[in-house]
Amino acid sequence: MDTLPAQNPKPHHNFTVDSINLLASTPPKHVSGPLSAVFGSASGFPELQFFLEPDGQHSINFDLRTTQLFRLGELQSLCVSEGSETVKEKTFSKGITIQFKEEEESSSFHGAFEQWKSDVTIQGSTLPNGTISSSKSKFDDKIESSSAKMYFHYYGQLLHQQNMLQDYVRTGSYYAAVMENQADFAGRVVVDVGAGSGILSLFAAQAGAKHVYAVEASEMADYAQKLIAGNPILGQRITVIKGKVEDVELPEKADILISEPMGTLLVNERMLESYVIARDRFLVPNGKMFPTVGRIHMAPFSDEYLYVEVANKALFWQQQNYYGVDLTALHGTAFQGYFSQPVVDAFDPRLLVAPAVSHVINFTTIKEEDLYEIDVPLKFSASVGTRVHGLACWFDVLFNGSTVQRWLTTAPGAPTTHWYQLRCVLSQPIYVMPGQEITGRLHMIAHSAQSYTINLTMSAKMWGPGAEQGGILQTSSCRLDLKEPYYRMSQPQAYSVAQDQQPNQLLQSQDLQLPSLDDDGSDFIQQPSNDSTVHIH
Ligand code: SAH
Repeated sequence: MDTLPAQNPKPHHNFTVDSINLLASTPPKHVSGPLSAVFGSASGFPELQFFLEPDGQHSINFDLRTTQLFRLGELQSLCVSEGSETVKEKTFSKGITIQFKEEEESSSFHGAFEQWKSDVTIQGSTLPNGTISSSKSKFDDKIESSSAKMYFHYYGQLLHQQNMLQDYVRTGSYYAAVMENQADFAGRVVVDVGAGSGILSLFAAQAGAKHVYAVEASEMADYAQKLIAGNPILGQRITVIKGKVEDVELPEKADILISEPMGTLLVNERMLESYVIARDRFLVPNGKMFPTVGRIHMAPFSDEYLYVEVANKALFWQQQNYYGVDLTALHGTAFQGYFSQPVVDAFDPRLLVAPAVSHVINFTTIKEEDLYEIDVPLKFSASVGTRVHGLACWFDVLFNGSTVQRWLTTAPGAPTTHWYQLRCVLSQPIYVMPGQEITGRLHMIAHSAQSYTINLTMSAKMWGPGAEQGGILQTSSCRLDLKEPYYRMSQPQAYSVAQDQQPNQLLQSQDLQLPSLDDDGSDFIQQPSNDSTVHIH
């Protein structure tokens, strides 16, 4: 796995603006220039400074992490910085209008603004000049505050915790993994990373933990406290700590971490990064992690029914007389929009066209930064001749206990979990012959809204009349936002009747070989003993 390419370091970026108006003062104060505006990060975070006097004595500073720039006209822009309610002293928002002399200056100023701002969001806590911000936590540096607010609001509600608790495949696997491996918990210090309702802390206490620190950032921490108080025999060995694992301090190191940080496609929500940060902050060297390893599995699928369903969603925009309005100008945009949504549902594993490839993430060794960009080369051999409509993905995690190794799987065909499976649908399907090679790439880039942008490319050689010797390459690509999935669980799953292929021509799971694993510290991994068939689709 590659780390993010380093951004061009730009220690300074100077501009001259004609004048500015300070909006917060009454009446708005006009400062005529020329004034110099400088991008930099000398204070440890990226900022934009407007120098009000040539001697550089007085300046107005904008913290780019909370600043937005709007174009009001060719030569005029608005620069606004959000006030903060998280610091002890409430600060107010501030804004200025900027007057430029030339349009060119205005454009390059906007370009520089975007670049400095994106350096912040992509690189997390590593700022453009290589300094590490100390003013905000590692979490706040890389995650937009609006996203974090909604995220922790969601997990602060009991109904969402209940939804996870009622996923018995999930919770039962955790319970079994802990109880089968009591030796790893008995007499040990445990940290529960993102404790939610506190359920995993209570499991660890049941397994004989000496002490459990249940760290939870959302309001759920208060409910966890209640639940734990309601179980006093276990609760006396549990301390609930309200805060982010990136920020809180613990009185002692942990022998073992327990957590449930998995999102859709394993990495959605970017909580694996918090799990890894918790490891580096709290775990003793060679301490255990439950789960220990995660794998993303990917395989091409054929699903005419799903393809038609997604493509048809945009048909609405093909109307030429919608109350007298021609909607077709937006058809292309709508069509692309629907194909940028990954589809979440449980599908029949017979829709898979080839054995899966896997990408292994070892939680005990991976660096946090290695999760910012995940790049997986794809190579498959088609088991049937069909139309390939995209890439199906699922994941599993391993609890590498000293007594029992247990897998929790979300594979198609295995008992369904609340994660279901995920499919990236190509707007242009590709044709394959039996035995034909399908190549491609799944490239995922983390974004500041706690999710990933997915770039998928799949290719296959095409033969037949008109094709040159050696065939011509059919390539199909799409870009999806993992944050905006299409939940399709309630749809009828009438695959066998809707497909234009014979069900019995579809993949037979027992014919498939196990995919080889990456070499990422996975040598100790064995296939799950009781459900190995589901991993090989
Ligand atoms: N462990 C619980 C809840 C899992 S959901 C269970 O298994 O049922 C993940 C939880 O982690 C959520 O409650 C969320 O609020 C919390 N969380 C996510 N990121 C966190 C962070 N950086 N610090 C602390 N808690 C976090």
